[in-house]
Amino acid sequence: MDQMTLVRDRSDALYAPVSRLMTREDWEQNFANDIRAILRLKRERNAVILAHNYQTPEIFHCISDIRGDSLALAREAQRAEEQVIVMAGVHFMAETAKLMNPEKTVLIPDSMAGCSLAESITAENVRALKATYPGVPVVTYVNSSVAVKAETDICCTSGNARKIVESLGVPRVIMIPDEFLAQNIQNETGIEMLTWPGHCEVHERFTPLEIRQYRRMHPGVVVLAHPECPPEVVAEADYAGSTAGMMEFVATRQPKKVLLVTECSMSDNLAALNPAVEFVRPCNLCPHMKRITLSSIRRALENMEEEVTIPDELFPQARRAVERMLAI
Ligand code: SF4
Repeated sequence: MDQMTLVRDRSDALYAPVSRLMTREDWEQNFANDIRAILRLKRERNAVILAHNYQTPEIFHCISDIRGDSLALAREAQRAEEQVIVMAGVHFMAETAKLMNPEKTVLIPDSMAGCSLAESITAENVRALKATYPGVPVVTYVNSSVAVKAETDICCTSGNARKIVESLGVPRVIMIPDEFLAQNIQNETGIEMLTWPGHCEVHERFTPLEIRQYRRMHPGVVVLAHPECPPEVVAEADYAGSTAGMMEFVATRQPKKVLLVTECSMSDNLAALNPAVEFVRPCNLCPHMKRITLSSIRRALENMEEEVTIPDELFPQARRAVERMLAI
């Protein structure tokens, strides 16, 4: 095979996963250079790229090695063999990766990639809650800072929250910081939740009226909602679950038409994998996730920045809360 054919074949293989989402011209003009550079840098730096399901398709499909929801990324971060981990996700995810890999270099391409849930609560707030409800276990959603995790008995994700809460065997828990996730889990389990008024700025915007309108416009559409949505929205859905749960639902059931009530890159990423499914696309973007771009990932690998560190005094307690979750 001559050199030109080899280069073209490699390029075709890189473009193939997103070919249903953009033209070849668009891909070549806007993405291909960065993608090729990132793939080269990954080899040179001995790096692995973890991408959350809300990353844009060119990141999710073309350069990432491990993809998934917060739970999958936390698990896989623990197993990564490469010396450098690049988190294509938000800051708390990079902190979790560092907690599980203290000896490795963890990079976040943009340290301003935060999260409205993580920023809604401080360690001091958690200490005050524990003082108000002594003896009540604290379950903390992974969408939280390492300082908050360090005040926590056990972490959870949207994918395992029910299992974690039930595993405690108690009639009530303090569940922070996502009020809606806690209310949805209370509705599922009957276990009393002492909540904190933190919300995801993407999921809190959905309304029951909006879902009913989509159903009227798209008869037969199957509605999948993320449990960070308000309970009244979850009540309108056919299924509620984490992004990993939604992916599995679509992959195994192949609904003719589906509405994902979550961040809008999910639909793009799933559309590339499920050509027979039509996606109705409400578009609520997470501005924090969208701070991560091909060029910021390329820059992170070129300059080996921005490195995530964890204060020594927070490390053991925070790691214990994540490890307890991963053990269940
Ligand atoms: S989608 Fe919501 S929960 Fe996820 S990072 Fe963005 S603000 Fe945080």
